[in-house]
Amino acid sequence: MQQILFNNIPYSAQLAKNIAHLVSDYASIRDKVYSNYCLTLLKHKYKNSHLLLTHSATGALDMIASLIDIKQGDEIIIPSFTYVSTANAFVSRGATPVFVDIDSRTLCIDAACVEKAITLNTKAIIAVHYAGHSGNIQYLKQICEKYNLILVEDAAMSYGYYESERPLGTCGDFGVISFDITKHITSVNGGLLVINNPAYALRANHIYDVGTNRHDFLQGKVSHYEWVDQGSKYQINELCACVLYDNLINEDSLLAHMQKLTNEYTNYLQPLAQSGDIQIMDEQRLTHNYHEFYVLVKTPELRNQLIRYLSEQSIQAVSHYYPLHLSEMGKKFNMHLSLPITEQVATCIVRLPMHQELSISDVNRVAHAVLTFFNS
Ligand SMILES: *Cc1c(COP(=O)(O)O)cnc(C)c1O
Repeated sequence: MQQILFNNIPYSAQLAKNIAHLVSDYASIRDKVYSNYCLTLLKHKYKNSHLLLTHSATGALDMIASLIDIKQGDEIIIPSFTYVSTANAFVSRGATPVFVDIDSRTLCIDAACVEKAITLNTKAIIAVHYAGHSGNIQYLKQICEKYNLILVEDAAMSYGYYESERPLGTCGDFGVISFDITKHITSVNGGLLVINNPAYALRANHIYDVGTNRHDFLQGKVSHYEWVDQGSKYQINELCACVLYDNLINEDSLLAHMQKLTNEYTNYLQPLAQSGDIQIMDEQRLTHNYHEFYVLVKTPELRNQLIRYLSEQSIQAVSHYYPLHLSEMGKKFNMHLSLPITEQVATCIVRLPMHQELSISDVNRVAHAVLTFFNS
């Protein structure tokens, strides 16, 4: 039986050609031709934001921590059910992460818990849009306005997702998008910093360029460039930008394919959702879903058995985050914290294969195996 992989990278003949050409074209690399092509395309989507293409979403989060001057004693409110990058950028600069539980329906930070976690030291709220979808970003925005806090959207999984006709990543002061190989639109390694508060734009350019004013120099505003701020080499590399360009010009069909897979999973697994054996995303979310297809089962034992059963059928299905508040590093900040929904979701989630190389008949095979597991 052919192995069905959890994730895969699509082959593109045009991309292979572009890369072969780019690696022998010094001037194009130096002048960041593909980065600029990508920015032109991205500007159509993020019309009113200042955009910087980074080597990763991790790098973009790191830039935000610099931009908002995180220091010892600051607190940031974040969900525990997220990737380590969300916390690390801030914690590395001395902030204390205040972990908050997630909503069982959206798997995003529970807005009702956020307000209770605010103290005089709170500097920012980091909302993670789990599986690409936002939880309650408008409400979080109101809370941030009320308490004068910075709102960061970790929209790493959200490329192509909108809410109220605005792309996710544009509601907070900042948003970050990931184009990592694990995401549905990819540059292999890459990210996007979306700056929605123009007050941060100038400094962001400096931090992005290793702490220099090179950007001003290239625009003819200064006679030479020099060291003006802290910073690092946050830029995306041109080979990755070349991959990203190929993904962006094909994004309509790439996203449409993910939606097609989602629809197929949804239809096939509906009976199990109705019988209560599994929980899937609500209908409204499933009508625009590109990043992942997950199911929640009732117990950790069932989860492990299901993953093992699928593996025996040559199907790779996987769990997701180990909660940050239970991790070795996270426990240093919150000794006895208990976040029941996070802990339950982390042990009961199964993510099913979803990628460009996956066909409808592959999805049928996976879904059929899931049905067989529950019905036998
Ligand atoms: C993937 C991901 C990241 C990290 O993105 P990179 O581009 O790999 O640095 C951060 N946060 C979340 C929620 C993610 O899913």
